[in-house]
Amino acid sequence: MSVDKAFREMVRNEIEAQLKPLRDLVSRLEAGTSDLDSLRSVAEQLAPLASAVGPLFGVASGGGRASAPAAGRRSPGRPPKSAAAPAASSSSAGGKRRGRKPADEGGARDCAIQGCGKPSRTKGYCAAHYQKLRMLEKTNRRPSEWKDYAAPNSVEDIKLPRGRAAAKALAEAQKNAG
Ligand SMILES: [Zn+2]
Repeated sequence: MSVDKAFREMVRNEIEAQLKPLRDLVSRLEAGTSDLDSLRSVAEQLAPLASAVGPLFGVASGGGRASAPAAGRRSPGRPPKSAAAPAASSSSAGGKRRGRKPADEGGARDCAIQGCGKPSRTKGYCAAHYQKLRMLEKTNRRPSEWKDYAAPNSVEDIKLPRGRAAAKALAEAQKNAG
């Protein structure tokens, strides 16, 4: 029996320690300097503890509803600080959009360049050919057939000059641009 009593003592001390942050929090809540989210997180931390030690103190845990009292403790008669809870759930539900446009994800089409065969990623072109398109555009050499969203396999690829010829072609294009 004395062992049992010592054990209860130990558990009680443990609970006191666990409850301290809650008490602090409640006093801060009453002072209006804290928010309900932190109260909820403390309550969630306490819930398993309550269900574990409740029976030791003869607390009827009502068939697994032991977490209910802890959750219900939040704000009796106090209006919830409205925005906090809904905002938290809605932001994870997709407030921010990803960078890529949804239209590009349709990706069943093939690249617009003839014989490429890769799935299109951007404006009807695969990643490599879109890069090439951008490069051609930047250097003022984009062929008129290389349209945005051209039909799959419809655009003839062009062979770019290499080496000195490439430099020459670039210079030529720059001249035409200016
Ligand atoms: Zn391609």
